[in-house]
Amino acid sequence: MSAVRIDGKAFAAKVRAQVAEHVTRLKQDHGITPGLAVVLVGEDPASQVYVRSKGKQTVEVGMNSYEHKLEADTSESDLLALIDRLNNDPAVHGILVQLPLPGHLDEDLVINAIDPAKDVDGFHISNVGLLGTGQKSMVPCTPLGCLMMLRDHHGSLSGMDAVVIGRSNIVGKPMAQLLLGDSCTVTIAHSRTKDLPGAVRRADIVVAAVGRPQMVPGDWIKPGATVIDVGINRIDKPEGGTRLVGDVDFDSCAAVAGAITPVPGGVGPMTIACLLANTLTATCRANGVAEPEGLTA
Ligand code: NDP
Repeated sequence: MSAVRIDGKAFAAKVRAQVAEHVTRLKQDHGITPGLAVVLVGEDPASQVYVRSKGKQTVEVGMNSYEHKLEADTSESDLLALIDRLNNDPAVHGILVQLPLPGHLDEDLVINAIDPAKDVDGFHISNVGLLGTGQKSMVPCTPLGCLMMLRDHHGSLSGMDAVVIGRSNIVGKPMAQLLLGDSCTVTIAHSRTKDLPGAVRRADIVVAAVGRPQMVPGDWIKPGATVIDVGINRIDKPEGGTRLVGDVDFDSCAAVAGAITPVPGGVGPMTIACLLANTLTATCRANGVAEPEGLTA
């Protein structure tokens, strides 16, 4: 391996420490404790794990965590009534509705019912529009984490060629907007892209957010490029059991790249750290307190 391994776990710990320091100051100087409300509908096991982990880390940085667990058959009107209560609760600065929602609930309707100022996932249509027009917004956590790691590694990203593989609303599109905001020349690739290897070979920065195990091989990577692997895929091990891999083939890509994030331990830990950073940012904005530097786009 010749690439620098970007340690997302260590970076996320640094971000959480920074958030905790600001939370202490908010409490001491302004008497404000940031509060994050997480709403979980149903019993999806993966979602339950995420919500538990979010709650634990929220408390660890000194914030208040409010968990709302609703039955899988909760009606849309009951869920919207809860969101309305949270929107109007001054102790709640951030609201996150864990996705996916059960099929009978309209995700767009639910997400767009959240007060955009408390939308710490950055999925509300107002925040999407603000990000797209280069205005101050709440930025989706996973792409924000990728951007922080890229800025930390490179300093300025200005003028770099970037390819984002994947065009989802939660990763690919906001990631492309953020890279454009940092003056990269951005290609967004997807399942209909004609020459994906060619697009990747031109890129100084590759962000893979596809959901296909080890899809990107090392011979697609431009020597010295930075590879950010968002993918989380579980595959079978030859000796039995399973393991997590990303969307890039780590070993062959690491042999060519200048820097690369591993899976696990890369982008994953940054996502919750950025959720906490967004909750802090939302709290500062709601109270007219200066926002911490380096924790927003
Ligand atoms: P989606 O399924 O919503 O989007 C996948 C994207 O990949 C689509 O735009 C799709 O194209 C594109 N794609 C699929 N196949 C190909 C292909 N053969 N060539 C090029 N592009 C292709 O996934 P998400 O964006 O939600 O997530 C992507 C990955 O990131 C998943 O593994 C997910 O688990 C992981 N993830 C990790 C997070 C973290 O915290 N680290 C957070 C969120 C996601 P098209 O639009 O044409 O269908």
